[in-house]
Amino acid sequence: MSERVNVVDVTPRDGLQNEKEIVSTRDKLLLIEKLALAGIREIQATSFVHPRWVPQMADAEAVAVGIQRFSGIRFSALVPNLKGYERAIASGIRFLEFVIAVSDTFNHKNLNRSTAESLELLTQVTKLAQQDDVEIRVGFSTAFHCPFEGEISARAVVDLLRATRERSPWRIAICDTNGMAYPDQVTEVLVLAKSELKMPVTELALHFHDTYGRGLANTLAGLEGGVREFDSTTAGLGGCPYCPGASGNLATEDLVAFLDGMGYETGIDMEKLLDAAEFANGFTSRPYQGHLLLAKRAGACGVKQPKESQLA
Ligand code: MG
Repeated sequence: MSERVNVVDVTPRDGLQNEKEIVSTRDKLLLIEKLALAGIREIQATSFVHPRWVPQMADAEAVAVGIQRFSGIRFSALVPNLKGYERAIASGIRFLEFVIAVSDTFNHKNLNRSTAESLELLTQVTKLAQQDDVEIRVGFSTAFHCPFEGEISARAVVDLLRATRERSPWRIAICDTNGMAYPDQVTEVLVLAKSELKMPVTELALHFHDTYGRGLANTLAGLEGGVREFDSTTAGLGGCPYCPGASGNLATEDLVAFLDGMGYETGIDMEKLLDAAEFANGFTSRPYQGHLLLAKRAGACGVKQPKESQLA
């Protein structure tokens, strides 16, 4: 039997949060329906952040109501603070993503507090989550590179892993927020985490952006290191608000095609996933950021299909 890899589609949150054109709640739910039909079983649906900071997520409560009609899918929502935690719980979300940046400067810019203060907040949120019987995944942003501090060392990531583990039992997603990681950095973090913290690598997820086209190379390093959970966005939507021009997350369709070809099992139907990618690509005015949709349905990316005679 082939090995299973969990693909977490984060399009409705990470993919859309930087899109200026507001996507309607209806269209977000239509995308989620297409992802569900394609066989995606874990989706990051929204973020309970203040709408002044991220207007695209102002409909978090409405999205949370809309997703209740889907069964068999684990929906998560990002919570940046206690207020976000309370809103998410009141909306019926049972799986939360709590974010901390490895880079202290990025944490200040993004969350208005130090990384140490975020760890204290994690202690509080963990206590609440255990009382409320909800699960958390902790996302480490800027784990390989920070737009302000430059390269982030594996040492810094592992120190934060240790500090997080001391405060909470949750799974941790290591995120390449601006897409500047290299595979050797991914390997180094995984080797250090395993050797120093004796951490089962199955408790780690990886979240790659594809700004410099290194998303799949980094995925391969993660697979070889034993990781079996990866985040991505349909049509490669997304970016980084502090990195102008940065393209998006690793595209879900590129990730799934890669995993399929490498013999891993994802349970995802490629044709239906391409339908979702085609729909998601309509949410942005930017050119298509992935590869597979272009290779399989060039017309969906605004590229003229070659005539039959030119295909020979
Ligand atoms: Mg991201």
